[in-house]
Amino acid sequence: MILLKTATDLSFFLSAKKAQGLQTGFVPTMGALHEGHLRLVEHSKKNNNITVVSIFVNPTQFNDPQDFTRYPVTLENDIYLLEKTGCDILFLPSVPEIYPSGMQLTQPYDLGYLETLLEGKYRPGHFQGVCQVVHRLLELVQPANLYLGQKDYQQCMVIRQLIHLTALPVQLEIVPTKREPSGLAMSSRNLRLSENEKKAAAVIYQCLVTIQAGLKPGSLDSLVTEATAAILAAGFDKIDYVSIADAATLLPVTAWDGQSKLVALVAAFISGVRLIDNLTLN
Ligand code: AMP
Repeated sequence: MILLKTATDLSFFLSAKKAQGLQTGFVPTMGALHEGHLRLVEHSKKNNNITVVSIFVNPTQFNDPQDFTRYPVTLENDIYLLEKTGCDILFLPSVPEIYPSGMQLTQPYDLGYLETLLEGKYRPGHFQGVCQVVHRLLELVQPANLYLGQKDYQQCMVIRQLIHLTALPVQLEIVPTKREPSGLAMSSRNLRLSENEKKAAAVIYQCLVTIQAGLKPGSLDSLVTEATAAILAAGFDKIDYVSIADAATLLPVTAWDGQSKLVALVAAFISGVRLIDNLTLN
């Protein structure tokens, strides 16, 4: 695996590979890698000649400064895991490499209503920061395929909109969520939880499965109310949302027609750590 730290080195290296007709797959991450990230790398390896992974804890997407400073960093282990998985290039840029003219966003991205609900509502500015970094990375890497995790359901929709807005010639591939045996979605933020907290946190997935099992046409209110109560009873401090939404638009669905595709989404805090998860229901 080749480790590159500057935008110039990365562009130089990849343009030579492109000239040879080689196709690149790209997996952007913030590090503290786990098996979920490695799934994305494996998907990329299967379908591309070269797989590039970036590790960059992007300051502009953290609406909570404490979340940024506490974000786990496990670089040595990340490098070990990526080598083991067969990643070809690790891009490890500094802030000035990503934002050479500063972090200020000059032209906001038109994300429409996606910025006003769920993650957009509870993390103001977050998706603008995500678009800012992914746009820059896509311009540098110019991949044929981009791999994102379904765990960040709304983020996938936002990046689809970014690709539409920028007309970048990249195909988006969404990889299913990798879970712990308990059902807890793997997340870098799980590193900040104790074993007991991780056990308790599995309630989120249990609730998503219960919602799925209880789905029937008509009002969905009681499914949401019961899931909310169960998450709080398991020891979560605060819930941002438990939502059942249209899987294509993310607009809330309070009464189901028995036909439309639905997704259930949760964001909640345990011991100050914010976890998100989702499950497509039908
Ligand atoms: P992050 O490092 O959290 O920014 O995540 C980098 C990429 O990995 C994103 O596309 C995430 O959606 C994806 N990802 C994170 N956790 C998982 C998981 N448990 N399963 C699959 N993909 C994941």
